Parts: sequence; C-alpha cells; structure tokens
Amino acid sequence: MKRGLIEVKLDYCTACRSCELACHFRNTSSFGTSHSFIDVNLNKATGEVQVDFLEACDNCREEPFPFCYDACCTGAITWKLVNGGK
Ligand code: SF4
Ligand code: SF4
Repeated sequence: MKRGLIEVKLDYCTACRSCELACHFRNTSSFGTSHSFIDVNLNKATGEVQVDFLEACDNCREEPFPFCYDACCTGAITWKLVNGGK
C-alpha cells in the first residue's frame, strides 16, 4: 500500500524535466534520466505536456518526500500522506 498520493497539475508543468533528474538520482546516485520512473514528454507541435509514472515507481516510500515532488519548483507535482503515513 502506498503511503503517499502524488498528482500532477499539467497546467503548471514547464517540461523542465527536473523531476526526471531527481528520480534518476534517487535510483542511481548519478546524473541522468535513463533510470527515472517519471517520464515527461513535450509535444513541440502542440505545446502539450504529458507526465507519466512508470510501474516501478514506489512513491519514494522510504524517503521523507518523493524526490520528484521535491524537485518540482512550479508546484506541478503535489504530494500528500495517506494511510496515516504508513
Ligand atoms: S519538475 Fe515539475 S515542472 Fe518540471 S517537468 Fe517535472 S512536473 Fe513538470
Ligand atoms: S515518487 Fe520517487 S520513484 Fe516515483 S517517480 Fe517520483 S522520484 Fe521516482
């Protein structure tokens, strides 16, 4: 059972991909995006952004905060504890 609920407000997303970098860092302790469990895609033709969470995402269960949430400076990613934080 996941202890936190993460949501994305696409209207606030600038497709900066900081969340991807943060997730990759959490998973590998290195710089990159290839091992990120969050995937950001910008359609350059339409300007639409899509943000997806991969199946492997565990909501950063053992961390104080999800890394992607902590890295998002626009407020596009929101997070709140559920299940009493357990
Ligand atoms: S860090 Fe926030 S604004 Fe940047 S791509 Fe991720 S969700 Fe969008
Ligand atoms: S919650 Fe953690 S594991 Fe899931 S996408 Fe965000 S940083 Fe990656």
